[in-house]
Amino acid sequence: MSTSTTGQRELGFAELRPPLSEPAAVAEADRCLECGGPYAPAPCVIACPAGVDVPRFVAEVAAGEPLAAAATIFAENLLGGTCARVCPVEVLCEGACVLHHEGRPPIAIGALQRFATDQAFAERLRPRPPAPPTGRRIAVIGAGPAGLVAAGELAARGHTVTVYDEREEPGGLVRYGIAPYRQTNEPLPDEARMLGELGVEFRLGTPIDTPARLRQLEAEADAIFLGIGMGADVDVPLPGDELPGVWESLPFIEALKTGRPPTVGRRVVVIGGGNTAIDVAREAVRLGAEVVALLYRRTEAEMPAFPHEVAGAREEGVKIVRLTAPVRFVGSEKLEGVECLRMRLGARDESGRRRPQPVPGSEHVIPADTAVKAIGQAPRSELCSWIEGLELDGGRVKVDPASGRTANPKYFAAGDAVSGGATVVEAVRGAKLAAWSIDDWLGGVR
Ligand code: SF4
Repeated sequence: MSTSTTGQRELGFAELRPPLSEPAAVAEADRCLECGGPYAPAPCVIACPAGVDVPRFVAEVAAGEPLAAAATIFAENLLGGTCARVCPVEVLCEGACVLHHEGRPPIAIGALQRFATDQAFAERLRPRPPAPPTGRRIAVIGAGPAGLVAAGELAARGHTVTVYDEREEPGGLVRYGIAPYRQTNEPLPDEARMLGELGVEFRLGTPIDTPARLRQLEAEADAIFLGIGMGADVDVPLPGDELPGVWESLPFIEALKTGRPPTVGRRVVVIGGGNTAIDVAREAVRLGAEVVALLYRRTEAEMPAFPHEVAGAREEGVKIVRLTAPVRFVGSEKLEGVECLRMRLGARDESGRRRPQPVPGSEHVIPADTAVKAIGQAPRSELCSWIEGLELDGGRVKVDPASGRTANPKYFAAGDAVSGGATVVEAVRGAKLAAWSIDDWLGGVR
């Protein structure tokens, strides 16, 4: 055990949920009560946005049939391997498991899903049978979770699907923006290969970055799916932004994900109260910082991060500094501290949350060698501005929630571009819905 302030416990760079051995998976699956029936689904199924038949796949694992279990998972979620690693199972399936009511630990559904999907990737399982070609062409813009799922669902129905992405690797936020202690690059390459076997064509390193390029896609495709996610970090400029040691969250995580871990100092300050801020703080602990402070301008009750994530960060030694807002970064040649103001909560704003107000004369400096701004992401407004008739709501693409269709009838959308930033499995749910709607519109039969 280390004696550092963060209490860093040789966390290293291991994933938060390591894989199960086969005997451990079978024993764990054997505890499942196989709830639910023809009249009421099991609570874990109701809690899964992707609608995975949890009791069925868990029973298949218990019976020693992991490939059948994987087929059950992929029937509802083509990114079942990624979701097994990054889903907030504590507030979804595992949080709903009836074993809680008996005072027992819930079934480790995420770990079992990872076990089954890992076996399927190793055996190169084809998740769906081939469908006869329809002759319809669909362009998918964005190879993040929503784009990948929409592409796979459409290709599995016989449509010709091409995915365009500016990056050289698929995965979007999962590849470049989810902290590696949750998920390294695996199993994205296997998931992309599986989609390729369903017939999805990838054009990576191919940005749709001009109106002319978009018009070309419109001319070639019968329908277009927008899985463009969100853009760069929200620009909240502060004096001292240019000092070495000041980061924004996405470049910080991307450096970790692409094998160039940032050098952090002894004292790290993270600014923000969402799950990304928590991820950055927990990675800073893993990078060896001795003091990691997370500044949030409201109280912990208003933090957008999941409470279990906040608790996990605190267990690892992250200090939650509430009612505190940064005003500038200070230092001569490099960052030396973050000047802050204390805040108090005033009247409620339009979001219903109480608005933080600065306490006059409360300026103080928190010493820091590294600071990371994790305040949120901005929408991709430029591409949206080129789409005729597309309607936005606060920068988010407006869709019919039942179909994922936008105000331009040729375009459908899902994922963070619509939600403004939600879980991967919510993107899976929206992308499935949009893919089915495209299929219906193009005359397919589900
Ligand atoms: Fe199994 Fe828990 Fe789901 Fe019941 S609620 S089927 S015990 S995982």
